[in-house]
Amino acid sequence: MLNIGCHLSASKGYLHMGQEATAIGANTFAFFTRNPRGGSAKAIDTNDVKAFLEYAREHNFAMLVAHAPYTLNACSNKEETREFALNTMKDDLARMEYTPHQYYNFHPGSHVGQGVEIGIELIIKQLNKVLTNDITTTVLLETMAGKGSEIGRSFEELKTIIDGVTLNDKLGVCFDTCHVYDAGYNIVNDLDGVLDEFDSIIGLERLKAIHMNDSKNPFASHKDRHEKIGEGSIGFDTMVQIINHPKLKGLPIILETPNELDGYAKEIEMLRNAYKG
Ligand code: FE
Ligand code: FE
Ligand code: ZN
Repeated sequence: MLNIGCHLSASKGYLHMGQEATAIGANTFAFFTRNPRGGSAKAIDTNDVKAFLEYAREHNFAMLVAHAPYTLNACSNKEETREFALNTMKDDLARMEYTPHQYYNFHPGSHVGQGVEIGIELIIKQLNKVLTNDITTTVLLETMAGKGSEIGRSFEELKTIIDGVTLNDKLGVCFDTCHVYDAGYNIVNDLDGVLDEFDSIIGLERLKAIHMNDSKNPFASHKDRHEKIGEGSIGFDTMVQIINHPKLKGLPIILETPNELDGYAKEIEMLRNAYKG
């Protein structure tokens, strides 16, 4: 079974997202835990969550991959921005417990000139403050393209973060195909080599989810502009290799391509047809 879905709007609640996912052929999805630019989150409707959990069970949903607001920067040079990141993540993780045992993905952050080392230190500090023993969510660090001063552009950087976190059994990695390719990992010519490198540095058991995006830019461009599946520099063949790779089987795959729902439905269908059970 190919576990695939896309980003959905959370504005109409959980059950609505579940139904929307089914309608476009998805059996997982991603959603922003609050407005992607940050700000306060709307109260959780426990009846809606209950109805959704039942719906997800009935429809064999795979793990969900929630997404933190992308403005969250745990390693900002401004104290108030770091504080905001800390409080937001704390609140998000408390909210995630309404749907226990799912994934919560975030962009590690941008060091904004402070240097990679200090940036990594600040990210570790935040994770050590927000992760507690009773959290059932697995927090995923996203592989980044290396745009500007982004941290997480290499497997080594992610590994250093994981190693610094006390409760790192609560951590995993989300592999974004556009970001990884933009960062200089050649998944087009050598997918096996990239996965071997991931395995030797981080360990494939940490790889929990895939963001599947083509890229508008050439290899190693450090740009991060997503393209529709098969229409960018990565191409459809590589996506087919990824969904059928024995080491990646079963992982939830989330499309973050520039699409409306009908476009996502088409990409999901294309990929399901290319999946060799
Ligand atoms: Fe992301
Ligand atoms: Fe992504
Ligand atoms: Zn991206």
